[in-house]
Amino acid sequence: MKQSKYLNDLIDALTTLPGVGKKSAQRMAYKLMRSNKEKTLNLSEKLSNVTSQVANCSICGIYLDLSDTVMQNDSGDCQLCIEEGRDVSKICVTESPADVYTIDSSTNYKGYYFVLDGNLSPLDGRGPVEIGIKRLEARLEKGNIAELILATSTTIEGEATSHYVQQLTHKYNIKVSRIAFGIPLNGELGYLDSDTISHAFNERKVL
Ligand SMILES: [Zn+2]
Repeated sequence: MKQSKYLNDLIDALTTLPGVGKKSAQRMAYKLMRSNKEKTLNLSEKLSNVTSQVANCSICGIYLDLSDTVMQNDSGDCQLCIEEGRDVSKICVTESPADVYTIDSSTNYKGYYFVLDGNLSPLDGRGPVEIGIKRLEARLEKGNIAELILATSTTIEGEATSHYVQQLTHKYNIKVSRIAFGIPLNGELGYLDSDTISHAFNERKVL
């Protein structure tokens, strides 16, 4: 018997989410079908909003609402990047905008941030270009940076990315440090509590 084409399309779309296989996608789709229509439409509206109303900060790369950008300034910079009193000599590199919020709220770090578009993963076709290394180089070339803090995850991909960026900094005469202490191997920052992050950040070592 043939299943609804629209339902199949939804299941296929759900499998593009991280960690969601065919079975889980089917369960989610059937659950949505059983929910009341308003709830499902609300989810649809939220998905539509994030694609049309949210952009990346042109400097650090974190997410911000387009409506807020207009209110702050015309160049699309976030509050962190235009905040006065931050230390321009320090830049912290993360693999996700979520990690910026975690670090900024868990530590007393007052430098700037740079968000890569994920980590290097050659098997998935993600090389330096895909994760935004060119943007990072452009930022480093502007000068004024004395310390770069590598805050990518301790997964294999996170370590590879950290190593790659460290190599990249050689020509800029920048001190490079890596957060390490307290972060479990193969750990993703997003799953850790703020005390662990704070400790790891403060105990970073020079590479
Ligand atoms: Zn920013």
